[in-house]
Amino acid sequence: LKPVEGPSWTIFSTHGLVLFQLARQPDLRLRDIAATIGITERAAQNMVNDLVSGGYLERTRVGRRNRYLVRGDRFLPHPSMRSHSVAEVAAVLASTVRAPESAESCLAVVFACSDHRIQGQLRQLLAVQGLLDRSETVLWPGAPWALDSPSGERILRAVKAVTPPGVQRVLLVAHRGCRAPEAPPREGWPVLRQAISRFRRTITPRVRYTFGLEPEAWFVDGERVRGGARAARSGGEPAAAAP
Ligand SMILES: [Zn+2]
Repeated sequence: LKPVEGPSWTIFSTHGLVLFQLARQPDLRLRDIAATIGITERAAQNMVNDLVSGGYLERTRVGRRNRYLVRGDRFLPHPSMRSHSVAEVAAVLASTVRAPESAESCLAVVFACSDHRIQGQLRQLLAVQGLLDRSETVLWPGAPWALDSPSGERILRAVKAVTPPGVQRVLLVAHRGCRAPEAPPREGWPVLRQAISRFRRTITPRVRYTFGLEPEAWFVDGERVRGGARAARSGGEPAAAAP
């Protein structure tokens, strides 16, 4: 393997790279597969043969070219990945090639509580979401509850004014027992449920109005981080509300 830049190893095996190249373009020639991945044509041939005999690819001759059908219903071969189908991975990797985002671009605005106990989890959340160093994080006590207060709209407008263009996500990160400084202390599960419904009723429409984006509600609870984009978009009961 000879990547143009970056490390000398890849996240996916070369077989995986061949498979997803063919998922993108089913009539790709062996020499093009080889050139794209950086292997010999003979190696590409062997891998295609392995994938065909393993049931991951079906090969048919169409005129002078081979045409390949990727079997999305097959499960990933590695024991640790067997619960995932090829289709799940192909949905992400085989879709149209996107221009890589520049490392400096700001992809998200994050409203999070400044409570020191959640900063480690907040960092972990941002890292997993690919937003570390690529998000504008607004921290203050009780955030994002302050967005629910009378000054909430003013805060949102002020943050929007200093947010670079190209932001695609707005994350609201709260935690169990989190409250704005002026609010009375409340503890326990009902508070989390109350929090979610307040996000929906007041904070979500405000964020939508100011940023033109559907906010994602994330909750940090002890060791766990829950929530996400899907819950915010579906309008259904977020995963965070489940006991
Ligand atoms: Zn808090």
